[in-house]
Amino acid sequence: MRIGTLNHRYHALAGNLALDIADASEGRFAPDGFDIFERLGELAGWLSTVPDSAYKPFDTDALGPPVSMPRQAFGVGLNYRDHAAESGLAEPEVPLVFTKFPTSITGPRATVTLPSAYVDWEAELVAVIGARAQHVKAADAWSHVAGLTVGQDLSERRVQLAGPAPQFSLGKSYPGFGPIGPAIVTLDEITAVDNLEISCLLDDEVLQKGRTSDLIFSIPELVEHISAICPMLPGDLIFTGTPAGVGGARTPNRFLTPGSVLITAIEGIGELRNPLV
Ligand code: ZN
Repeated sequence: MRIGTLNHRYHALAGNLALDIADASEGRFAPDGFDIFERLGELAGWLSTVPDSAYKPFDTDALGPPVSMPRQAFGVGLNYRDHAAESGLAEPEVPLVFTKFPTSITGPRATVTLPSAYVDWEAELVAVIGARAQHVKAADAWSHVAGLTVGQDLSERRVQLAGPAPQFSLGKSYPGFGPIGPAIVTLDEITAVDNLEISCLLDDEVLQKGRTSDLIFSIPELVEHISAICPMLPGDLIFTGTPAGVGGARTPNRFLTPGSVLITAIEGIGELRNPLV
């Protein structure tokens, strides 16, 4: 399944067609909220009974974030080997977890306002939590994941790295700094989660191109680590880290400027296209 939102309502997406889940199910599933992430098996069973003719064409530019206001959104720093190397830092021995505050989350086609001349790009695979997870071991973690989506962890580097003991969260939480989408793709549709191409482009220039095989801590390991401390709730997000190629690791540094479109893509999941102003 691919689940996205149009007009703040969950839709099942199939190519260029969409189905309003609450309308078509006559209220069996709510149009919004978090309940749907715990009932994906039931949703899949019901969807299999819906005729193709019930799906209608939709405008991809109208897609909102598949989770618009998660209760928690976690980010992970230095989680690709090539990105740790370009940053001149040792590979971490435990996941380096920070917060992206939920007001930073926006849609796959949203226009993003750059608050300064120091905003950097980070293409990321994002895990969406399904069933509540608390003290979950890695071996059981996938059963607590609803699916995967594409994310962009925009980062204001001056704010992120300010002070003697930098606190990442605010620098990564300006409005619009967390585009996600275009849909949550359930795990049955993803054949090689450990080896997906992930890329970031500015218009037609490639800025990042990596593979999820380079991840240091896998999604199950991140769920185990985080859920040992914070219970994870349906609809919560984990931005799992970014591969090499960010602007802050370049000499000289390079940051985003208005007037371009930032494209973030993951093989088999989809892409974000966010104009910058
Ligand atoms: Zn990141």
